[in-house]
Amino acid sequence: MNFLPQRQVHLDFHTTEAIDGIGSRFDKKQFQSCLIKGHVNSITVFAKCHHGWAYFPSETNEMHPGLHGFDLLSAQLEACAEIGVQAPIYISAGFDQKYAVEHPEQLRIFPRTMVRPEVAVNSEGYKYFTDMPGFRQICFNTPYLDVLAEQVKEVVKKFNPVGIFLDIVGSRLCFCENCRRDVIAKGLDPEVEENYWVVGDEVYKKYYETINAAARSVNPDVRIFHNAGHIACGKRAHAFANTHLELESLPTGGWGYDHFPKSAKYVKHLGMDYLGMTGKFHGTWGEFGGFKHPNALKYEVALSLANGAKCSIGDQMHPYGFLDDATYELIGKAYAEAEKVEKYCYDIDVVADIGILEKESFMRVYSAGTTSDTGANRMMLEGKYLYENLDPDCDFSKYKLLILPDSIPVTGTLKEKLLEYVRGGGKVLCSGSSGVDENGEFIFDLGVKYMGKSNINPSYYHPEYEALGLTSSNYVMYSDKHNISFVSGKVLGYVRDSFFNREPDHFCSHKHTPFKTENAAPGIVVGKDGGYIAWEIFSEYAEVGSFVLKEAVMKTIDEILKDSKTLRTNLPSGAVVTFNDQKNNSRFVLHALYSAPVVRGKSTQIIEDLMPVYNSEFEIKTDKKIKYVKLVPQNRYILFKQKDGKVNFKIKEFTCNQIVVLKY
Ligand SMILES: [Zn+2]
Repeated sequence: MNFLPQRQVHLDFHTTEAIDGIGSRFDKKQFQSCLIKGHVNSITVFAKCHHGWAYFPSETNEMHPGLHGFDLLSAQLEACAEIGVQAPIYISAGFDQKYAVEHPEQLRIFPRTMVRPEVAVNSEGYKYFTDMPGFRQICFNTPYLDVLAEQVKEVVKKFNPVGIFLDIVGSRLCFCENCRRDVIAKGLDPEVEENYWVVGDEVYKKYYETINAAARSVNPDVRIFHNAGHIACGKRAHAFANTHLELESLPTGGWGYDHFPKSAKYVKHLGMDYLGMTGKFHGTWGEFGGFKHPNALKYEVALSLANGAKCSIGDQMHPYGFLDDATYELIGKAYAEAEKVEKYCYDIDVVADIGILEKESFMRVYSAGTTSDTGANRMMLEGKYLYENLDPDCDFSKYKLLILPDSIPVTGTLKEKLLEYVRGGGKVLCSGSSGVDENGEFIFDLGVKYMGKSNINPSYYHPEYEALGLTSSNYVMYSDKHNISFVSGKVLGYVRDSFFNREPDHFCSHKHTPFKTENAAPGIVVGKDGGYIAWEIFSEYAEVGSFVLKEAVMKTIDEILKDSKTLRTNLPSGAVVTFNDQKNNSRFVLHALYSAPVVRGKSTQIIEDLMPVYNSEFEIKTDKKIKYVKLVPQNRYILFKQKDGKVNFKIKEFTCNQIVVLKY
């Protein structure tokens, strides 16, 4: 569970045959001095790249012609071994440009629904059917799978690496002749896109079983990771095909700063060791000469530590085989800080009051950006709640509150599990159509009766409290509203309808129609089992980010949890806090982080300035008797008070991140 090295580099090396002199300036001493300077204790080096070439004399693949026989992989492995740096080996799996050109009949064929101009090139940088330069993807439902398996077996046999990293793979929609044939063989309609997922899942399962068997036939203990760019919540079989998890999440590469915590707060449940993988790039992979500010990397590494993850930083080596000195200075600044505090960061239990049942676990494919999961995660992070992300197989009993954001269906075994949870005193917060069963009724007593989705949009929210600290007004709600009738409970605010939807034959002003001045129905109610919010408020928050939405959710949660919250703090909304229990060391470890990414250029989130945060106050609810509170790595003891089951302390000033140890 705790075997991965803490400070890793993931070294890309996708190198075309159009460049000569590959590895010609590899220098063992230079390679080693960079790793030492970077405080790196593991680096993933490459046996085969996306262009399809081998970087060692291979019997199952062609060696890169630009190497002119130089065994670059062995040279790197030797360099790493000499200085005690681990070196798992990278093998490109989903992309093999050389093979794709030789075997166009084995390419993955994309569905027409995905071939729109705006998605012609996705974040993986490959092309669908356009003439844009980029890697082509191969379908594993072809003879390529056996070719790959032999290549994997050869690498494990020849180098006996500590681990292998296969890239980029996953369950995929493919409309090639083989996949179409398999859909038909199953008696499914080949004209229905959804049916291709049935085959896509089977093809992926066959892929990872074949590759794992090939690798383990040589070394049963070799570490294996299949990279899909995201560990999808709820896809446990896919996660368990790995020996550990690498959470690829480059904040400036399309993932954003909230993706990593979201992912880490799910994988913790799987009982596997995991790392957070960011990049040294300004933007994303393959960006030669792209650098992020050292402050950004420092923050990203601290965020991994706060979430119990080992760290990995992506880099790409120059075709001539030298590492970039400035890059390893950059990495070293972040990793030197990490090295000082690692012993406080692993072997932890996450303390959490709230569990979010993620919509993603009910979906076929992960869809980042504007889903209800994203909105719920941001609200939890910004609201400083202690939370984790759940799939239906998780144990719910540890949480005081479960959030079912916007559209979580509750039927079958999940319904039974949730009913047992509330019978045991657990509370829920539902919004939109969440919490409604197959009969169209709430399974919980939320103080309201469900009456279906309204066709009025937008509508308005009229709170009973002072939203934004101002006199209550009428706040526009862009998401769909659901109709309810009030039964009993506390109403936190009401729905006010607009006069009518904006249509060509009746509209008002530039944007949307104003509100009626009377309440149409309750909008937020807290009943016996928890709260209900009539709008799809979490996806709306992901989309528009209005404070009023977040405040409404926070007011509802606070009304439900009342005095039972574990943590209260005055940290600003841009701060992140985690609270972990290192039981084996009898101590709680609190991480407080603050950075304020700003958008620079067209859409890149940049961290440049790390501003100090002053006078941060914390109140922790715990039955444990606290012996001392100290700041790490400063090793400075600070004053605290413990009374009536609550511990209070203050951090006078911190910049970027601060770890606080509460010894019990
Ligand atoms: Zn296919």
